[in-house]
Amino acid sequence: KIREYLNNESAISNIEKPANREITGFVEFNNVSFGYDNEEVLKNVSLKAKPGETVAIIGPTGSGKSTLVNLICRFYDCSEGEVLVDNVNVKEMDLRTLRSKVSVAMQDVFLFSDTIEGNIAYGVPDAPYESIKRAAGIADADEFISSLPEGYDTIIGERGVGLSGGQRQRIALARAILKDPSILILDDTTSSVDMETEFEIHKTLRSFYNNKTTFIIAHRISSVKNADKIIVLNDGQVVEQGTHQELLNLKSYYYKVYQSQYGD
Ligand code: ADP
Repeated sequence: KIREYLNNESAISNIEKPANREITGFVEFNNVSFGYDNEEVLKNVSLKAKPGETVAIIGPTGSGKSTLVNLICRFYDCSEGEVLVDNVNVKEMDLRTLRSKVSVAMQDVFLFSDTIEGNIAYGVPDAPYESIKRAAGIADADEFISSLPEGYDTIIGERGVGLSGGQRQRIALARAILKDPSILILDDTTSSVDMETEFEIHKTLRSFYNNKTTFIIAHRISSVKNADKIIVLNDGQVVEQGTHQELLNLKSYYYKVYQSQYGD
């Protein structure tokens, strides 16, 4: 079906081009609390991200990192406080509008038993890979893909079954960014690759996405130290925040402990 679309110019021209868009990508949490059952997982979290900023979220397993980003795209609704995207409370926003602004690439990648091309195209329903590239204005999607290590480009036409964790993560990444979101969430998207590969992926992402608001959940200090803001979570609370250098200069107990555990 995708192949059919690839040769169908009208399918391509039907997709609206995002030219002259307003500036979007503001995210704000005001005193947000949330619990899955009775137990509170996030407690009174407040934070702000401006368009184009990279915000890293770190903290021990179970501290609430994934839960926090899931509230941005409304996989869950907060029980107290408010989450704003572009100054609008996400609970009052049409889900379609919200999800067109926010793209999530997750650690546990769900792939369909389709081709890789199809899996990537899933981000925009009924739109083939080629038209997504054009609609999203990403003329350099091929360049992006080929710049990903381990020959991502060579697996593009193969089926999604039997791929390694790292390959699956890269597909999730491509799927998320080809939607051309103003807010990109990378939830442990590079945990299955080695440090060098992770560095390459983040470098590539930065060159393509320096105008996107990006939330990164990662475990290695090396992949978060260039972030505009690092938010340290502990037991559902923001215990420290600042740049890498600020956190090192401050009496940042948690960040320093984290750094000694995970190293550069
Ligand atoms: P992190 O990303 O920092 O590892 P999570 O946000 O995944 O933390 O989890 C925070 C807490 O919420 C943990 O105690 C976890 O067990 C719990 N939790 C996460 N997802 C669910 C869920 N879907 N249902 C119930 N509890 C959950």
